Amino acid sequence: MNKSGMVTEIRTQIRKEPFAGKYELAAGKELGRGKFAVVKKCTEKATGKPYAAKFLRKRRKGADCRMDILNEIAVLELAKANPYVVGLHEVYETSSEIILVLECAAGGEIFDQCVAEDDEAFKEKDVIRLAKQILNGVAFLHRNNVVHLDLKPQNILLTSARPLGDIRIVDFGLSRRMEKITEVREILGTPEYVAPEILNYEPISTATDMWSIGVLICVMLTGESPFLGDDNQKTFLNISQVNIDYSEDMFDRISSLAVDFIKSLLVKNPRKRATAEECLKHPWLNPHPLSQPLLQKMLAFSLDDNEMSQSESEPESPAHS
Ligand code: ADP
Ligand code: MG
Repeated sequence: MNKSGMVTEIRTQIRKEPFAGKYELAAGKELGRGKFAVVKKCTEKATGKPYAAKFLRKRRKGADCRMDILNEIAVLELAKANPYVVGLHEVYETSSEIILVLECAAGGEIFDQCVAEDDEAFKEKDVIRLAKQILNGVAFLHRNNVVHLDLKPQNILLTSARPLGDIRIVDFGLSRRMEKITEVREILGTPEYVAPEILNYEPISTATDMWSIGVLICVMLTGESPFLGDDNQKTFLNISQVNIDYSEDMFDRISSLAVDFIKSLLVKNPRKRATAEECLKHPWLNPHPLSQPLLQKMLAFSLDDNEMSQSESEPESPAHS
C-alpha cells in the first residue's frame, strides 16, 4: 500500500544493464551517506563528466521500499526545470539497489560552512544570495504542490565551496504531493528542523517546509541551532513552545531585517507563517534601492553639486564574529 502523497509514476527509464559498464567509481571516500543510502562520486566513461551516484537499498528493515524510491525519482523529474534542485541524469536498478545518477554538487553540504569558525563562515551577504536560491527552488516545489519535508543544512549542497557557488537542493526521500495528504502518523525529518505541527500530528502543508527554512537561515547566519536541546525530548519541547529569545547575543551580530525575516517563519500557526513567495519579497532579500552605496553617492551629488556629501554606507558585518 502507498503512503499518502507519494507519486510513483515516472518517465525516466530504469536501466537494468550494469552501472559499472558506463560509470567508473572515483577512488577515495564517499560524498556522503544517510540512513539507507550511500553517495559516491563517479565519472561517465563516455564523456568523462563527474556525477554523484546515490545507491538506495530497496529493502529497509525488512520492508520493500521501491515505491519510496520511485517517489523520490518522480519529484526529481518534476523539478527538472528548476536550476536549484539537483539534476537527475540516469537511473539503474540491481536486485538489491536502485542507483540515482545525479548532477555532482562538488562544494558539499552548506552544513560545513554553517558550523565553521569566523573566516570560513558565511557572511550575511552570502546568506542573502543563497537564501534567495533556496527559496526560488522551494517556491517552485510548492507551486507544484510538492513539500520537501527534510530541509536542513545536510540536504542543501553547493556547486563549489570556494569561491562560494550556487545552491542545489537534494534528498527528496521524504517529499510528498500535498493535495493528497491528510495526516502524518510518524514523525518525519530531523528533530532540530521539524515544525510544531509534525510533533502534534497535525496536517502538514507547504508551511511545514517554511518552518525548516526559518531554522536553516538562523543556523546559516548564527552558526547556532535555535531549538536544539540536550536530548530530542527537550528539542521537541523547545519547538512546540517556540522557545527562542531574539535578545540573545547570537542575534546581535545579524541585521534587524534578518531577524525580522526569521521571525516571519518561526511562527507556531502554519497559516500565519510566511510563504516562499512572500519571503522572496521580504526587504531583507530586496535591499531598498536607496540604501545602495552608489545610488546614495549619486543622490548626494545631484542634491549638492558643489559639496560632495561624505555619506558612506555602513560597513558589512560578518554573520559570525
Ligand atoms: P539520505 O536520504 O540518505 O539522507 P541524501 O540524498 O541526503 O541521502 O545524500 C546523503 C549525502 O550525500 C548528502 O547529505 C550529501 O552530503 C551527499 N550528496 C547527496 N547528493 C549529492 C550530490 N548530488 N552531489 C554531491 N554530494 C551529494
Ligand atoms: Mg539527506
